[in-house]
Amino acid sequence: MRVLIAEDDAVPRLILKLTVEKFGHECLVAEDGSQAWDIYQNTSVNVIISDRMMPGLDGLELCRRIRETPGVGYTFFIFLTALGEKEQLLAGIRAGADDYLTKPFDPDELHVRLIVASRVTELHQQLTEQRAELKQLNQELFQQGRRDPLTHLGNRLRLMEDLATIAGQAERYGKRYCMILCDVDCFKSYNDYYGHIAGDKVLHDIGQTIAQTCRDGDTAYRYGGEEFLVILPEQSPANAAIAAERVRHMIETLAIPHATKASTGRVTISAGVAMLKPSDYQTMHHWLKRADEALYRAKREGRNRIVLDTGSCDNSTNG
Ligand code: GH3
Ligand code: MG
Ligand code: MG
Ligand code: MG
Repeated sequence: MRVLIAEDDAVPRLILKLTVEKFGHECLVAEDGSQAWDIYQNTSVNVIISDRMMPGLDGLELCRRIRETPGVGYTFFIFLTALGEKEQLLAGIRAGADDYLTKPFDPDELHVRLIVASRVTELHQQLTEQRAELKQLNQELFQQGRRDPLTHLGNRLRLMEDLATIAGQAERYGKRYCMILCDVDCFKSYNDYYGHIAGDKVLHDIGQTIAQTCRDGDTAYRYGGEEFLVILPEQSPANAAIAAERVRHMIETLAIPHATKASTGRVTISAGVAMLKPSDYQTMHHWLKRADEALYRAKREGRNRIVLDTGSCDNSTNG
């Protein structure tokens, strides 16, 4: 351990230092409280052995300051008190000291205190490490709970949380948002023909393609089974429709064979695009519903196409 001795009296200071070093610890010395405080602030110290009465900053004040200043690790604080100073002992412990030694000190007693100090600081160290691990695990769990394991995109929970944030951003700062709701065409028959595992692979690849096709700032989610959703901030409905068309095109270009889909023979998607309107702020459900209706139209009109929600067209502005 690294031990700091704060003692204004030269002789006991030297004897303490030699004894601490004899027990195998590194030792720093301060001639008064202020010097000890300076050292403490610049060096990590495991144990402080401090006299009570010192010119300037006294032992009590030094102890209080240290307890009020959360350091990297725990510092075990031992007070030096003269024999018979019982009331000062209590004040010292109340100020945050862990233990005391009476002067003139007994080397065996010092040895005992240092062994205890080593255990206590080690326990504190373990606690700090465990707390950091728990925090890390919590963060990982939080992320995992919001990620779709198949596509690695945000899942529906993540989307719902983000939609709540988006509503606030739109209402408070007038930020503009569009969404693209995509659905894989004739996917049931794909699964029936190629099997579910092959179907999973397709969903994975489509998810990746959507994410890669999006611009920075756009966010893609797996909305449901074979449905994906992209949120595009600060884009006009016309530009969102162009982005949707790009996504549709990229997926068609993957040229994943779909033997039972006569029209193209490939896996394709349909998409509905809708802009967030002030009338949607209260419940994002309206926005989703308009995107879903546009998607439904894309399906009806023959699939492998994108449709812009008519309500969004009315409000279309350039940019
Ligand atoms: P449409 O063009 O009208 O969208 O037809 P569709 O066959 O894609 O639509 P439908 O809703 O009838 O079928 C969706 C299919 O998506 C059925 C379901 O088995 C499949 N699916 C949903 N989630 C998964 C998944 O995680 N893995 C696989 N392999 N298939 C999934
Ligand atoms: Mg003194
Ligand atoms: Mg569907
Ligand atoms: Mg589908």
